[in-house]
Amino acid sequence: MRILVLSDIHANLTALQAVLQAAGPVDAVWCLGDLVGYGPNPNEVVETIRAQPNLLCVAGNHDVAIADLDMDIRAFNAQAQASVRWQRANLSEENRRYLYHLPRQPQIQEPVTLAHGSPRDHLWEYILTARIADANFHEMETHLAFVGHSHLQLGFQYQANRRTHRISLRPGETLSLADRYLILNPGSVGQPRDEDPRAAFAIYDPDKQEWRPQRVEYDVRTTHDRILAAGLPSRHAKRLLHGW
Ligand code: ZN
Repeated sequence: MRILVLSDIHANLTALQAVLQAAGPVDAVWCLGDLVGYGPNPNEVVETIRAQPNLLCVAGNHDVAIADLDMDIRAFNAQAQASVRWQRANLSEENRRYLYHLPRQPQIQEPVTLAHGSPRDHLWEYILTARIADANFHEMETHLAFVGHSHLQLGFQYQANRRTHRISLRPGETLSLADRYLILNPGSVGQPRDEDPRAAFAIYDPDKQEWRPQRVEYDVRTTHDRILAAGLPSRHAKRLLHGW
């Protein structure tokens, strides 16, 4: 069984299409949130995700900010706010409602907890350090968690006899998950931030208990040009070229 795990698509349709093609046929899709925000194609991305087989999708902070018109967006920086306003104006009512009703709490699919930011703070916490990962391991009901939000393809491991530590994950490598406590991030489809502009995702095999992080090239220029043509902040176009 193959499950495509993806996150942080950020309205980048070109990257999403490349990921779906590279992943090939899958039995299910688990989406960890942030379908929209930053990019030029929010409607097409929401509609493409909604059409995926056996979809399980949680809300990201951008999804909530854009779909929940009562949400205070002052926590976002000025350019992100401009992007939120553009996305609110351009998202269809049907797609807005879909995002509005996505779960804003972690979802458990034994033996995995699915969250956007972290298991203990679904929408907002970034798991970037072993200390933050460790605090989450102590609150998890499952031995695995898949999270997004940081836009970094990374993982952390908890072991009873040593400190929680970051593990190295190379695209294409297969990681065995059996009997291990792990928090794993598939990376970002639509706005990678690890200086590798290729779209990131992972394949999870629940039968073999394996995780395989992957990267795929896509036509970054197309998304870059669409962001500029839409009048969205140019910073959100430029960063895609180098993955920052
Ligand atoms: Zn994001």
